[in-house]
Amino acid sequence: KLSKRLQTIADCVTPGARAADIGSDHALLPVYLLQAGRCPSAIAGELNAGPLQAARKQIAEAGLAKAIEARQGNGLGVLQPGEADTVTIAGMGGALMADILETGRQAGKLAGVRELVLQPNVGEEIVRKWLVEHGYVLQSETLLEEDGKMYEVLHALRDEDSPEGVTNEDLYDPSFLAASLEPGQKREWLYRMGPYLLRQRAELLDSKWRHEIGKLERICKQMEQSDLAESREKQAQLRLEINAIEEVLSCLR
Ligand code: SAM
Repeated sequence: KLSKRLQTIADCVTPGARAADIGSDHALLPVYLLQAGRCPSAIAGELNAGPLQAARKQIAEAGLAKAIEARQGNGLGVLQPGEADTVTIAGMGGALMADILETGRQAGKLAGVRELVLQPNVGEEIVRKWLVEHGYVLQSETLLEEDGKMYEVLHALRDEDSPEGVTNEDLYDPSFLAASLEPGQKREWLYRMGPYLLRQRAELLDSKWRHEIGKLERICKQMEQSDLAESREKQAQLRLEINAIEEVLSCLR
């Protein structure tokens, strides 16, 4: 049985899609996609030899060596253009994820890729911005909790495949946020917290960001012990950030 996190990712993959899972590690996701009959074939990409071996073992044990190919390489470099309809990337930071997508895009590896399912561990805003800048439109966002950790799963389609009425312009229109923030700041928080998650007023979103406030407050406390000008400045910045988060969260109630 898949973890809740991987199951949520799997549920986003359009049935029938040829999938490529980048940074696949144990290849649990592609193996599930094949076993569940959701995908006819898949590619498991891995940079590192250890995880690649784990992927090959998992695939062989599932008897899926003909349908799932494990390939070693950096990011989307393992793909030939047109080989995959859906790319999944999970369990890494948003900056690395955006870097993998951008390097791949520049090498033409995203030609033909209609769907992206992404689960960044941190730095979600970097991924959301990359999607907007490169013509992908979020179709859903899921925030889930598993083993005391929170995960965000982002499901995007290319602009031309996005259903009518689902556009980045509408998703990132900040006017629905009642916060007394500048529109530019509101937009920034849409990128950080997620346009769907904010509109859903998801309860978990509130917990996630309260937790973040707690972290920032602890950092502020530690800094109070130092009276370097630099540290005072940083503290002031953190306070502003905490206030902005509070402000945005207050609109969710
Ligand atoms: N995707 C799986 C999941 O979500 O359960 C595994 C996540 S694991 C934490 C991250 C994997 O990404 C590691 O196996 C690592 O070797 C691989 N990885 C890191 N950078 C990569 C890159 N540039 N290209 C391909 N794989 C990469």
